[in-house]
Amino acid sequence: MGELIIVDHPLVQHKLSMLRSIDTCNKEFRELVEELATLICFEATRDLPTVETAVTTPICKTNGKLIEKKLGVVPILRAGIGMVNGMLNLLPTAKVGHLGMYRDPDTLQPVTYYSKLPKDAEEREIFIVDPMLATGGTASAAIRYLKCQGVTNIRLLCLIAAPEGVEKIQTEHPDVNIYAAACDSHLNSHGYIVPGLGDAGDRLFGTK
Ligand code: URA
Repeated sequence: MGELIIVDHPLVQHKLSMLRSIDTCNKEFRELVEELATLICFEATRDLPTVETAVTTPICKTNGKLIEKKLGVVPILRAGIGMVNGMLNLLPTAKVGHLGMYRDPDTLQPVTYYSKLPKDAEEREIFIVDPMLATGGTASAAIRYLKCQGVTNIRLLCLIAAPEGVEKIQTEHPDVNIYAAACDSHLNSHGYIVPGLGDAGDRLFGTK
């Protein structure tokens, strides 16, 4: 089963509390989402393999380590966009793909309406980013879509997860680890995470 890794560093928890607050304006919200993405990315890359490399310092020769694996960041539109720069702060050479998904009102199934991935996506370690893991329906469909494109190494990064979403991903994609700042109580009848932070997309982009 995939792991749920909660990043409980004090900086993360402090910024998450500010993010949740109804008094946080759009500008601060965007900045916090970016900062949190960077901090969670640090944890989500902890086990990336490294290769030994020779380094010459101004003093002498020594051995260092490099990450050779090619990386990719895939935000789920639209709220995932808010996490991209935070990821790129630590992974500046990563390629960025985009996935747009909506829920078909008749079948209630997620449908991919937009996809633009790096052409060598299947060779990359892919970090899917979406701030809110609610029912898990969209994230699960995004993972399925990437797997259909040949991607085998996938990690899911969010800011707040709901137990329902975690269970869905762990059941449907036991090979995918989930990284988050918190796992909240439950979903309400409108599909919002409780206590959550409201609508992440609206708070990022000021659309409400
Ligand atoms: N999407 C959001 O933006 N917020 C939630 O609470 C759940 C899904």
